Amino acid sequence: MTQFNDLMQEANLVGGSWIRADSGDTIDVTNPATGAVLGSVPKCGTEETNRAIAAATKAFESWSRTDLSVRVRLLHDLHDALLDNQEPLAQLLTAEQGKPVFEARGEIAIGAAYIRWFAEEVRRAKGEIVPAPTGDRRLLVTRHPVGVVGAITPWNFPSSMLARKLGPALAAGCTVVAKPATATPYSGLAWGKLAQDVGFPDGVLNIITGSSSEIGGAIFDSPDVRKVTFTGSTEVGKTLIRKSAITVKKISMELGGNAPFIVFNDADLEAAIEGAMIAKFRNMGQTCVCTNRFYVQADIHDAFVEGLKKATAALVIGDGSQDGVEQGPLIDEGAVGKVEEMIADAVSKGGRIVQGGQRHESGGTFFNPTIVTGATAEMQFASDEIFGPIAAVFKFDTEEEVIAAANTTEFGLAAYAFTHDLSRVFRLNEGLQYGLIGINSGLITTVEAPFGGLKQSGMGKEGGSQGLDDYLESKYLCIAGLST
Ligand code: NAP
Repeated sequence: MTQFNDLMQEANLVGGSWIRADSGDTIDVTNPATGAVLGSVPKCGTEETNRAIAAATKAFESWSRTDLSVRVRLLHDLHDALLDNQEPLAQLLTAEQGKPVFEARGEIAIGAAYIRWFAEEVRRAKGEIVPAPTGDRRLLVTRHPVGVVGAITPWNFPSSMLARKLGPALAAGCTVVAKPATATPYSGLAWGKLAQDVGFPDGVLNIITGSSSEIGGAIFDSPDVRKVTFTGSTEVGKTLIRKSAITVKKISMELGGNAPFIVFNDADLEAAIEGAMIAKFRNMGQTCVCTNRFYVQADIHDAFVEGLKKATAALVIGDGSQDGVEQGPLIDEGAVGKVEEMIADAVSKGGRIVQGGQRHESGGTFFNPTIVTGATAEMQFASDEIFGPIAAVFKFDTEEEVIAAANTTEFGLAAYAFTHDLSRVFRLNEGLQYGLIGINSGLITTVEAPFGGLKQSGMGKEGGSQGLDDYLESKYLCIAGLST
């Protein structure tokens, strides 16, 4: 049986070859649960990235013309390979990222599902025949792969964030230069091994680890890279949007969030607490769609907090590789520091810690899931993304007031609400400035639906039928002078 070490690539994939950094430099990768070094990956930079771009550019000539049926079959084979290796891939993901292994299994499964979805969706990527103003003309809109794609991904979903980019890019006929996050490179590199194993041609997928500024610099400077798809923080995203102007690239940006979670007094409280646990504590609070702010209607506030407290206290904390563990460590010391800073800020402004509030006894980067009540708009987490296990609870009275409060951030990724009032659901859909809205559920991501933020949470969609559009260019073809 395949072990996770069999899938750990300690080299980068460029033009079908596994390479080291020219300098020989490497970067250690650590297990956040134990602090142990798992291994090391190349610290590549500008030169190696330029070679990867050259390989992708060359491969694009043939891959973009490869029969659709062949591309679709390879994607289905990649989907199957992912599921055949689901367990070792999940173990690898947990080892480098820290999330509980049951969540890692889910991440591999949804990554595979994205690949299958886009293998199916590309078969419906139709063009158009447009009615012409005169009889001697025929007007067509045809669709073409955009070209070489740069794909930059974060550490919190190191496998599925790449799946949402590789699926549509490869399906459309694009080739890819991918840069996984430095903290979690192995899950990204494993895509290279599996793609090679199932027979993707050399150069179609290239994966580079190392200096983000050098790799990003080479990707953005190159006129051959026609599109960049980025998932990460709003701060880095803004820098990259500016860089995209150098060669006028198409860009997709999946950036940070600050999700409100609104519980109205007509909600099913048990379901709301269940939804709250998923929306807050999945991946230890380190997801872009994690709840940042709970808004609870005044008359059910205490009952909600009581239920949330009970559920939070019961969470099993430990090394995510052990079955049964529900909360692993945070990614690094910086993440713990940010959580501590936000708690101190809230307490200094009158917030009350009713659960957790400090590091877990296991040490390292383990942190007790925390609930702060009495949250106000002046506290740091009202405007900043927490990205950690703090549930901040605000009290509200009216629907109007809570919609206004929910919208008072620069972010617009996900929002959740629990209510049984159908008219209100439509008012929420129209009033909440968010790209994803979950009603009576804390987990709404699915391959069939478009995922993407409004405002400073980004641009473009991943998943759904829209997820393919960014990887295809439209061309208008006018044929004139036809005899009728
Ligand atoms: P990050 O610091 O922005 O990094 C994301 C990726 O960008 C990493 O691969 C990073 O490389 C790279 N990078 C950093 N600076 C760069 C530069 N100058 N040029 C090119 N690449 C550069 O984000 P993160 O901490 O990994 O991830 C957490 C953030 O991602 C959160 O804000 C979260 O909300 C967001 N996120 C959004 C979505 C979504 O779909 N909207 C999904 C998941 C996560 P290094 O690792 O080498 O620094």
